[in-house]
Amino acid sequence: MSTRVLDGQAVAAAIRESLLPDVQAFAGAAGRPPGLGIVLVGDDPGSEIYVRNKVRAGSDSGLWVDLQRLPAAATLDDLLAVVRRLNGSDRHDGILVQSPLPGSMGKGAAQQVFDAIDPAKDVDGFHPTNVGRLVQGRALLAPCTPSGVIELLERSGIAIGGRRAVIIGRSEIVGKPMAMLLLQRDATVTIAHSKTPDLPGLCAAADILVSAVGRAGFVTPEFVRSGATVIDVGISRLTDEATARRLFEPGSQRLADFARRGSLVVGDVHPAVFDKAGAITPVPGGVGPLTIAMLLKNTLTAARARRAASLG
Ligand code: NAD
Repeated sequence: MSTRVLDGQAVAAAIRESLLPDVQAFAGAAGRPPGLGIVLVGDDPGSEIYVRNKVRAGSDSGLWVDLQRLPAAATLDDLLAVVRRLNGSDRHDGILVQSPLPGSMGKGAAQQVFDAIDPAKDVDGFHPTNVGRLVQGRALLAPCTPSGVIELLERSGIAIGGRRAVIIGRSEIVGKPMAMLLLQRDATVTIAHSKTPDLPGLCAAADILVSAVGRAGFVTPEFVRSGATVIDVGISRLTDEATARRLFEPGSQRLADFARRGSLVVGDVHPAVFDKAGAITPVPGGVGPLTIAMLLKNTLTAARARRAASLG
């Protein structure tokens, strides 16, 4: 069987391209570009890379991107003060606080921050108001990663309605909103997690399998029905040579890359699944670029909605 590799990079580029005229039209009408405030606390290396990519993508798409940095020693109150300031700013249409927050801010800090963001500027879609709207099928701002998966499926012509979808992972940012978006498109959805019995058997019934666990090579061929669509949301940095050798064929490009760099970014899906799936997303180059494209789209959506509200 020939497996179709779903090119997230190309779909993300198409989405970003399609935003350009709308961004220009907004800027022409409003006298300013749509504005995105990104708040980064501390110096987590992974977050630095994600934020750099978001800033670059936003600027390339004609947005005004304002990066606000706080030191790792900042308190939750310091962070909430920045959020309140951005809430009150006219130039900021969207606000994103990069996760993870420093552990010193305490458990529950992220949710307190999400709760503090003006729902009209909540381009991550994590505020309870936006979560509620999503559950009711009337979200204006839906979480970026699952919306990106939907765009990828739809733009790739993969039917969702009437299909069985299984999602591995029940997080607030991926698993749960992914389930809602698929359900709203008439899939029959099951959410699986760390306590689900017979996970491979359950997953093997899926027409669309979405994995959001964060464990390299977790989804093996026994999880996958022949011809199914497999969406790999997971991102792990592999630094262990034995695991790299277990996952990748001797002489493969991926193993050569590992030998050269000493690490590899991989997804949840085992490489052997590529021979069994009908369509599959690679890591990197699958879901990741779509998350950023949807962030830009949400910022434009928020900017337009705020402007429409201000014009009455
Ligand atoms: P999370 O840690 O909050 O959730 C992981 C989920 O996996 C949990 O719900 C847990 O129940 C489930 N799980 C853990 N072990 C399991 C097991 N043995 N069997 C079945 N389920 C199990 O993670 P998250 O924030 O949802 O992110 C998941 C992955 O997706 C991570 O690798 C993250 O880096 C990645 N991610 C990627 C993007 C992107 O843009 N591509 C965006 C967000 C998250």
